[in-house]
This record gives sequence, C-alpha cells and structure tokens, in this order.
Amino acid sequence: MPDIIHLLPDAIANQIAAGEVVQRPASVVKELLENSVDAGSTKIQLIVSDAGKNLIQVIDDGKGMSETDARMSFERHATSKIRKSEDLFNILTMGFRGEALASIAAVARVELKTKTTDAELGSSIIIEASEVKSQGPDSMNQGTTLSVKNLFYNVPARRNFLKSNSVEMRHIIDEFQRISLANPQIGFSLIQNDKEVYNAPAGKLSQRIVHLFGKNYQTQLITCQEETEWFKVTGYIGKPEHAKKTRGEQFFFVNNRFIKSSYLNHAVQGAYEGLIKDDQHPFYTLFIEMDPARIDINVHPTKTEIKFEDERSVYGIIKSAVKQALGAHNVTPSLDFET
Ligand code: ADP
Ligand code: MG
Repeated sequence: MPDIIHLLPDAIANQIAAGEVVQRPASVVKELLENSVDAGSTKIQLIVSDAGKNLIQVIDDGKGMSETDARMSFERHATSKIRKSEDLFNILTMGFRGEALASIAAVARVELKTKTTDAELGSSIIIEASEVKSQGPDSMNQGTTLSVKNLFYNVPARRNFLKSNSVEMRHIIDEFQRISLANPQIGFSLIQNDKEVYNAPAGKLSQRIVHLFGKNYQTQLITCQEETEWFKVTGYIGKPEHAKKTRGEQFFFVNNRFIKSSYLNHAVQGAYEGLIKDDQHPFYTLFIEMDPARIDINVHPTKTEIKFEDERSVYGIIKSAVKQALGAHNVTPSLDFET
C-alpha cells in the first residue's frame, strides 16, 4: 500500500486556519485594531466601506515594521510577541498567536504599507489568497496601514454567509467600541462609507465613554473601584435610574482584554438588586487587573472567554465593589466631570 499522507500547501493551511480567526468583517477589524494597539500607536483610524465587505483599512502611527518583518508578518505562527512557552503565562500584548495576518491574507486581497522611525523609506506588499503579488519600497510616514479588500472573495460559501450590512456593521462597531474603551490614551476614529462617525481624541476613560455613547453619560457615571492583594477592579457603572431594557452597554475587561462573562454580569446585576427592575440592565465599563498567571486566556481562539482560577472570589469582589459604588453614590454628589 502506498503512503498517502502529505503536508498541505501553505495557502490551504492558512485558509483552513482563517476559518477560526476570520468569521466576519468584524473579526478582521478586531485583529487589525489590536495589532495597532500592540504597535504602540497614539492614533488609530478605521475606515470601512460596505460594512467591511469591500474595504477594511486601519491606519496607525505605531512603530511600523522593517522590510523583512513586513513580509514575515504574513507567515503563519509568525509573531514578535512571544518566544517561548513560558511567555504564554505572561502575555502583555493583545496578540500572540501570529495567525491573524496569515489568515486574513488567505481569504482577501491585503495591502500592507509600513515604515519604522529610523528607516528612510517604508515598504509595501500586496498579497492575495496567500500569494505575494508585489513588494517594494514606498514612501510614507512612520506607522502601518493595512487594507483588506474583497474579504472572502475566494471563499464564496463564507461570503454568502455574511449577514446584512447593518448586522455586520453592528459587529464592527462593537469591536471598535471595546478596543477604544480599553485604550482611551489612544485617539480613535471611524470612517464609515466616507463619513466620519466617531472621532475620539486621546483622553480619560470617562471622556471616551461620553464620546462613544453620548453626552448624557456626563451625568450618569459612578466611579467604581476596589482592590485586594491579588485583584483590582476600576471603572464606571451607570446610575440605576438610567438602566436600559437593552444589554448593549456592558463591558468587562481583564488585563485590558474585553471578555464576555455571564457569570460576572450576574454579579453586577445582583449588586443593583432592588434599585432597578429585573428586565433592566445597567451600564458598566469595568477593568479587572490581576496576575495573568491566575487566568487562562488561551481557552478560546477568539479570546473573548477566559478562565479564572478563583471564579467565586472574583464574583464576590465585583459584586461588593459595585454595591459599594452604588452606596457611595447615594451619599456623595455625582462624578465631577471634565471634558
Ligand atoms: P500577532 O499579533 O499574534 O503577533 P499577527 O498575525 O496579528 O500576529 O501579526 C504578526 C506580526 O506582525 C506581529 O507580531 C507584529 O510584529 C507585526 N504587526 C502586525 N500589525 C502591525 C502593526 N500595525 N504595526 C506594527 N507591527 C505589526
Ligand atoms: Mg495580531
């Protein structure tokens, strides 16, 4: 019997991996914005047209890449962020898998332009379905511009599965809001079909919230803070009287990474008991900081779910922090606001 096993060509392996990393335009937005944050940018601009189906472009002023790195960045498992397995337990960057660019470039037409501070010229690369179409020097400012065009053009089944523009745009805005909330020290703007829909300058978290969700938040935010030996939570919760019937504006971040946790949401909701109706949901943007060794962020490829070593204590601290903030709000005047 002849041997029948062979290694898949890179383009196919990347396309398969892309199935996990790139579900929809919003997944591309998330990966590109995270890369720009990791690159130490002070300003990040997101441009989308046709809900990202035709164009997703992220322009940053971060550290950029050398010519060789620019090419390397599209290889699978190519990363500058971790080196050895111990690093997995002490991740300080948003990315670390080295899969995003390789995956995106397997299912779209991607154009990268990038320049480091000390380089005289930048470099530009065009890749389509994992194949380099052109590469050469290019003049530009420091930073990186990544353009993703015709997403899933070579995977018709995926392309057909995309939802309406309004649904896909909602997902994009969700990602944009999460990353922009987690990084108020970075200026973020969003241009949708040639129209600027957000422009939030670098500032404080409270200012970022107001930019994203509206001026009425200036009078709705209550500071929330609690610290134990191994755990810290900071951020803002909304006044009970402004709780809404919809759940949209609820954000948990763990070590600056957005997470979804119905368990922790329950803790917050529980703290509002008696203050809001059962079908109402309070606003919150809470940042948990703790030793990364006590969490496993590697449990899910899209990384919105994490595992805490001591889930019940985390629940307890969150609930008591929110309760305390709500109690303090009743006796002290509301947050002193500057924009
Ligand atoms: P990961 O972020 O997990 O390392 P990616 O595929 O997203 O993997 O990116 C690969 C590498 O390309 C990164 O590790 C980084 O060195 C480089 N890179 C990607 N985007 C940028 C950017 N906007 N600015 C500078 N470097 C970038
Ligand atoms: Mg990345």
